Amino acid sequence: MSENIIEVKDLTKIYDDGNVLAVDDISFEIKKGEIFALLGPNGAGKTTTISMLATLLEVTKGDAIVNGHDVKKVPDKVRRSIGIVFQETAVDLEMKGWENLELHAILYGMPKKKRRSKIQDVLKLVDLGDKANTYVKNYSGGMKRRLEIARGLIHEPMILFLDEPTLGLDPQTRRKIWEKIKELNKGDLKITILITTHYMEEADELADRICIMDHGKIIALDTSENLKKKLSGEIIEIQFEQVDDVKRLQNLILKVRELRGIKNISFGGRKEMSDKIPMQLPPGMKNINPEIIRAKLREIISNPKKLIQAWNKYPMASQMFFNAPPEIKKQIASQFNEDLIKEVPEPIKSEIIKIQKGEISENTTDFKHLISISCDDGGKQLSSIIHTINEHDLKIKTVHMHKPTLEDVFLFYTGDIIREESANRVKNIKEMIQMKHMRK
Ligand code: ATP
Repeated sequence: MSENIIEVKDLTKIYDDGNVLAVDDISFEIKKGEIFALLGPNGAGKTTTISMLATLLEVTKGDAIVNGHDVKKVPDKVRRSIGIVFQETAVDLEMKGWENLELHAILYGMPKKKRRSKIQDVLKLVDLGDKANTYVKNYSGGMKRRLEIARGLIHEPMILFLDEPTLGLDPQTRRKIWEKIKELNKGDLKITILITTHYMEEADELADRICIMDHGKIIALDTSENLKKKLSGEIIEIQFEQVDDVKRLQNLILKVRELRGIKNISFGGRKEMSDKIPMQLPPGMKNINPEIIRAKLREIISNPKKLIQAWNKYPMASQMFFNAPPEIKKQIASQFNEDLIKEVPEPIKSEIIKIQKGEISENTTDFKHLISISCDDGGKQLSSIIHTINEHDLKIKTVHMHKPTLEDVFLFYTGDIIREESANRVKNIKEMIQMKHMRK
């Protein structure tokens, strides 16, 4: 076998009788012993990719070879080579820790004698040896996640698939899971790990290579270090006070672009979008981790079909729409074409139509009031940037300068960017605004 343990070629997934192109003709390889991260915003196609590799979803087009086995031809052999930990809890809360693992081992046809020792081994591996006899409903979030990892390891897989393994966990618990993942990879077991995440720092901390996905496509693939090198120099983030006249900001960007040593300018990240929606949760939902709710919200607000479902099902969702800030409402409204709008329940439908016709115009813009400027030498360029901003009569709220992080790389690839090679800048800004509408 080659040193690649996973080989993916032209992999494509289309859902819903051709309506959703979730994974769009992607190719990549994962080396034996690597930790490989699929990083991308909600809906980028990460879970779909991992599900095809795990033989849980049919491949629409293309090929994937896992541990030397073709996912389409010999799914059983692929399944025996891999362990999977998914976003949703798969362990049974009404069973004890060891019972969950026993069930899984029986399903894999493991003989009784081996089962006993293997269960002990994997529980120890994830530091749950002393919790074997505790019911899982009494485990903390981090313990449940570690039990899931133990479950994925029981049949001694060569490869572990981890889909958002730390989603919704607090920073300390997240760190503990990272340590476990590193141990599994670097320790005696040397397990190859494919992890999906939308936490930049998680990918940065764990992965040997990072594959950034957006809209079903791979848009960058390299080590974190190399990805960051592409943005050498400094990043200057400037946050403005309320911008009433968007033309002023557009002109400013054109002028800053002309300054020496400016590499590119991008607007604040899309992930902030859901964070702006005020949430009024019913009492029963109060103790759900808000991060999980935000993650779901992010997924829903960028998918008009899911929005329609939510509005039809939950009065709370309609209320949240009406309470959302105008720019979010505008972003949501821009996703509905003539056909989709017919399915939207009243009174949201009328509100969206009004927004689309421009009948509800409030003093807002589609821009986040934050720009991120990548430059060769921030220390030298900062004063001329500030000078240019003052000339445009825009009020600065905060200025922050730092070395490029993976988040900046991510914004560079997935954000709304004015690139260096642009020939016609005005045309570019127009396209950028249109793209932004199309995406949201
Ligand atoms: P997340 O971080 O939210 O899990 P992701 O990057 O894993 O996102 P996927 O879950 O793979 O993204 O989804 C990719 C696209 O496919 C999205 O537009 C999503 O709405 C759509 N999609 C996912 N599952 C289905 C399905 N069963 N039927 C139809 N569309 C789907």
